[in-house]
Amino acid sequence: MQATRAQTPDSPLRCARPSSWERWFNVAGLAAMHFGVVLALWMGARTIDVAIVAGLYLVRMFAITAGYHRYFAHRAFKTSRVFQFLLALIGTTATQKGPLWWAAIHRRHHRESDTPRDVHSPVQRGFWWSHMGWILANEHEEYEPSEVKDLWKYPELRWLDRWHVVPVLALLLGTLFIGGLRGLTWWYCVSTVLVMHGTFTINSLSHVWGHRRFATSDDSRNNPVLALITLGEGWHNNHHRYMHTANQGFYWWQVDISYYALKALSWVGVTWDLRKPPQRVLDEGRRGKPAPFVRVVAADELRAEPRSAAPEPKREPLLAPLPQPADAE
Ligand SMILES: [Zn+2]
Ligand SMILES: [Zn+2]
Repeated sequence: MQATRAQTPDSPLRCARPSSWERWFNVAGLAAMHFGVVLALWMGARTIDVAIVAGLYLVRMFAITAGYHRYFAHRAFKTSRVFQFLLALIGTTATQKGPLWWAAIHRRHHRESDTPRDVHSPVQRGFWWSHMGWILANEHEEYEPSEVKDLWKYPELRWLDRWHVVPVLALLLGTLFIGGLRGLTWWYCVSTVLVMHGTFTINSLSHVWGHRRFATSDDSRNNPVLALITLGEGWHNNHHRYMHTANQGFYWWQVDISYYALKALSWVGVTWDLRKPPQRVLDEGRRGKPAPFVRVVAADELRAEPRSAAPEPKREPLLAPLPQPADAE
């Protein structure tokens, strides 16, 4: 990554280009973590190990879903600068790089979802590519600071984004120091690998497996199983229809644990201005029959522009003006 102090959100420079040692470190680290899971299973688990894994999973999955995704990428609620930093700090320990990179890449996914230019489309490049191939291939390490202009102004976030490996190493060494080999393999490796693959299912399975309530211009799906695993992210078709909301489960029966936690935090003043979908979107989703898969451009159709002249569903702007009333756009 080449982020420098002189770089501004309008700079033509790109940042996040990793050095070759960083790339190999990423691949070797991923392989080592999976080896750690095998070792953990071979050693067997105690009750305390399962409890710690569950705790580390829930806290970090929340930091990714509520923090990296709903807050940093979509600005779906407001919070203090301290809690913002806390979400970013815990999110980095999930080994999914920094909050600015994550938000920039995810905003790009919404702009280009399931077109040939999509960063991680299973429709265009297959399941494994969308699940983790795109990360390992290092094709999308760079981002424009202008893509995250609203976040770039916080030096502490830029620092975390540049040095995202520091919290990862701190957690790794902490579990090793406190729990020894069992701490490293169970507490760190197993919980991190679960968070990682749980998050990745939203890029892969959530675009191929499930129900389409809304006719979006991508192949996003709603899936209750994935919603439970990811604390609410599995309502991905809802999310692609209207991305600015703190809740991704739009209806009472759509379980969304991240939203329940955000709501509880709002009662004690930690979060506020939680944004909800407008009534017209809710009504649109109640019409009953599954929405058709509107259109996805095949890879060999791509030339200069991925879209044809065919009418396409309306896309919401990536960053709607803030603040915004809870029930309006
Ligand atoms: Zn998606
Ligand atoms: Zn999103």
